[in-house]
Formats: sequence, structure tokens, C-alpha cells
Amino acid sequence: MMNRPLMIADILEYAALIHPKGEIVSARVEGDLHRQSYVETAARTRRLANALTALGVRDGDRVGTLAWNGYRHVELYYAVSGMGAVCHTINPRLSAEQLAYIVNHAEDRLLFLDLTFVPMVEALRGQLPADLRYVIMTDRAHMPENTLDALCYEEILDQRTDSYSWPELEEDTASGLCYTSGTTGNPKGTLYTHRSTVLHAMAVALSLAAALKPGSKILPVVPLFHVNAWGLPYAAPLSGATLVMPGPHLDGASLFDLMEGERVFSAWGVPTVWMGLLAEVKARGRLPEGFGDVVIGGSAAPRAMIEAFEERGVNVCHAWGMTEMSPVGTQGNLPAHLAAAPPDEKMRLKAKQGRKLFGVDLKIVDDAGEELPQDGKHAGILYVRGNTVTSGYFRNPEADRAVFDEKGWFATGDIATIDPDGFLTLTDRSKDLIKSGGEWISSIDLENVAMACPNVANCAVIAVPHPKWDERPLLIVVPETGKTPDFDVIKDRMGAHFAKWQLPDAMEVVEALPLTATGKVSKLTLRQRFADYKLPDTA
Ligand code: AMP
Repeated sequence: MMNRPLMIADILEYAALIHPKGEIVSARVEGDLHRQSYVETAARTRRLANALTALGVRDGDRVGTLAWNGYRHVELYYAVSGMGAVCHTINPRLSAEQLAYIVNHAEDRLLFLDLTFVPMVEALRGQLPADLRYVIMTDRAHMPENTLDALCYEEILDQRTDSYSWPELEEDTASGLCYTSGTTGNPKGTLYTHRSTVLHAMAVALSLAAALKPGSKILPVVPLFHVNAWGLPYAAPLSGATLVMPGPHLDGASLFDLMEGERVFSAWGVPTVWMGLLAEVKARGRLPEGFGDVVIGGSAAPRAMIEAFEERGVNVCHAWGMTEMSPVGTQGNLPAHLAAAPPDEKMRLKAKQGRKLFGVDLKIVDDAGEELPQDGKHAGILYVRGNTVTSGYFRNPEADRAVFDEKGWFATGDIATIDPDGFLTLTDRSKDLIKSGGEWISSIDLENVAMACPNVANCAVIAVPHPKWDERPLLIVVPETGKTPDFDVIKDRMGAHFAKWQLPDAMEVVEALPLTATGKVSKLTLRQRFADYKLPDTA
């Protein structure tokens, strides 16, 4: 057979020809709703490749983006990678120090930024490379006064034609770069290739075909600036689905209105976002019209959330993955033989993290590195390997030594069981587990039950130091507005699922939980905040 390289540019050119009616609809930072077809997107992407060439971008150069979900960001994904350079997406929610580290470590040559981020980058400029050039992603009419000597996105496109021949690249050519914020040390970069990206797009399109089909409207709330928006910028055009981009407006009411206006069928994002949308759904007493499917990942989807969607007729697909895996590793749509299971069993299965995508291998090992049986009972450290899994961090051999075993498998940092049907169940992040008297307690399991208790809007369980047991669980609760959760009631409910020694020793009520830059509950911040906490029996 011919050995044709897998190339990212082919996806968009394919979409333009085969799915010409597919669109990218974007809520713009400028305030309006913009729409363009995949045909127009492909033409503008070729223009952008010409513009980047004129700006001196060469093979392998890193081009940074600091932008929300929108069509210009997608154009950058394709133009930068397609011409042989590396599209480096940067998470604007990271600290100034981390942002400066990342841009310097990646040696970005150009930085494309949305209007929103102009003041932030101006403040940071002194710490960024002196020869970095800036392009603001807007048109001339909206160009702000700025101290970046920035170019205007639409102007650099206007100066170029849409005739451009994508170079034939080796499929192992680097195409994208995304840094993930470790809880310690500097962020680490995952460098994707054309091959890994195209294979990932095909695997996502295939495994989530119920949502990704011609004409289907998909809302990626998961950001383009982190984890490649779970591969949707590639998988949606490939399958002919339309992308509805929320821009900077991620609150429940804005999402509800956008979804209803565009008749979004499937929405993808982290649990925090869906809490906002569900509150809006409850307030309005109905779903956005056309909404029938939600993909939840990035953190564990609480069973109460899964039930809230499912009982309103929205199919929940619980997915798991990580930056280092492109990022999707598993998805939780039930196979045909389980789809007709009794409701309680279905919910139990949906609360698991799903089953692997094609091309992903999973194994669990004990502390000594011995592989454990995949019987749904043994919990171990989860390792992965596959065509879409990193083989080493970008310019960071020290970080590599900590995460690869001698057979080349990658340690995810998650603790999990895998059952004979292939369902993955995460019991915790290794650093979030609670070790009480030498026995492990899963914070995720406790949170799942607490979330379903009366008057609880959100919660987290963390370890706090204990003189006798080393660590004990502390429950931290955000109450529903105006309500007071009762710790005895919660403990009572938990008692039905856990041994007595596994139950939290105390409950603290807070207004909100701290979030990480990727929208997950920051247990590290909570652990720091409650480091000196005195449990009732030790006070
Ligand atoms: P990131 O690289 O930022 O996507 O973070 C990856 C980590 O997020 C994983 O290693 C998990 O700890 C966590 N994660 C992702 N999806 C899920 C999920 N569905 N349930 C629980 N944790 C998840």
C-alpha cells in the first residue's frame, strides 16, 4: 500500500469538499455572533498560511495563541500546523509567572492574542522574549491602542491570497504544543504530531459518532487553549458536524442562550461548567431546545450531575483523558448490550470513566510495578501507551524520568480499577488519596455521595493531618443558595456506602471552591488552606 503521511491540513480540505455546509459559529469577543462555512474556513486558513510565511514563520517554529474558542483560533490550529510550524496553545488562566515561563521555554516567535488578553500581555511583556511579535485577533475597526506594536489579524489576512499548497510533511512532524500545569514545578509541554493528531481525530469521531455526525451542532466549552478542546477542532470537520464556539461567555445563562439559539445537540466540557448550566436549566424549568447529549470530562462527573441530565433526557457521556494523551483516552457511551440495563445499573456504569478509544492501551500496577488484574476490584496506578500518548515532555528529560516505566508506558498519576468489560473507574489522583491508618480512602467516592445530599451545591473531600491516623478526610461543602447542609444527614447517607472509618471526620462550609487554571477543583489550594485544621477529636 502507499505510505501517505497523515496530515492535519487534509482534514480541513476534506471538510470543505465533503461537508461544505458544516460551519463554525462563534460568539466573538467583539460582541456579535459570527458564522462561516468550512469552505470559507479552509480559504482563510490558506490566506493565513501565506501571511505566516510572509512574517517569517519557518518549519518547526512555535507560534503561540492566547485565545478563546472561536473561528480565528481554529484557523491558527490548521494554518500553523499545516505549513509545518507548531501551534502552541497557551492557557490564559495560568499565573503570570507560568505564562512567562511557557512562552520563553517554547521560544515562541509570534503570539496571537484575543482582545481580552491585550492588557495582560502588555503587563507581561517585560518577561517575554524581546523579539516576540504580536498579532491581535480582530479587525482594524476593533484594534485597541496597545504598547505591543501589534499587527492586526484581519489585515495580515487581507494582504494575502487564498491560494496555497500545503507542504507534504513527514507525519511525525510536530504540529502542536500544550503545557499542562503540574501542581509542583514548572508546567510541562506535550508536543503533538500530525500523525497523533489525525489518529486521535479519527478515534474521537468514531467513538463519539452518536454526537459527531453531519449537520450535528457541537458546543466545545472545553477550551482550544487547553487539551486541544478534546480534539473537536479536528473531529468535528472530519465528521461534518458544526462547531458552535462560546468565546469568553461561559456562564450558565450565556451558554443556555447560545445553545438554544443555535440548536446545539451536544455540549462538551468540565463538570464546573455543567453546574452553571444545570442551575440555569432549573431556574428556567427547561432545557435549551435541541439539547440531547453532553460529554463530561476533565474531572469526575458526579453521579448526581449525570442523573440530573439523564432524567431530563440528555445522554451523558463521561470521558477521561489528559493533555499527554491528545487528550481523550476513554468515553462512556454504553455499548448496545448494556444500554438497556435497569436505570440504576445504567447510572452506575455512566459514573465510571468509560472505555478506551481505539489505539489506547491501559494497565494498572501495584506499588512494586507488578501488573494487577483488570477485574474491577484491584485498584492500582494507571499507565497508558498508544499512538496518541506522549513519548516525552518537550525539552524536559528530568520530568520524563518520573513518568515512564522501563517498558515505555506513561504513568498518568491516577489510581484506577478496570473491569472485565473494559470500564475504567478512577478512584483518585494519587496525590489526592487519603491515607488513614495505612488504608486508602477515595475522595472521589465520598464526593459522589455528598454531592447527591440535600442542600449541597458542590463539595470536595481532602486529607487533613491527624496525629494518630496520619490523615483523615475533611468534607468541604458549598451550600445551595440560602440553604444549610446538615453534616449528620450527609454522614448518614455516606454510611450506606462506606465503612465507618472511611467517613469524613468534619465538615466545613465555604462560599466557593478554588479552581485550577483548567477548571478543576484545586485540592492543592484546599489542602494548603486547611493544613492546620484541627479535627474535632484532636482539638
Ligand atoms: P489535564 O491534562 O489537565 O486534562 O488533566 C488530566 C487529569 O484530569 C487526569 O489525569 C485525571 O486526573 C483528571 N481527569 C480527566 N478526566 C477525568 C474524569 N472523567 N474523571 C476523573 N478525573 C479526570
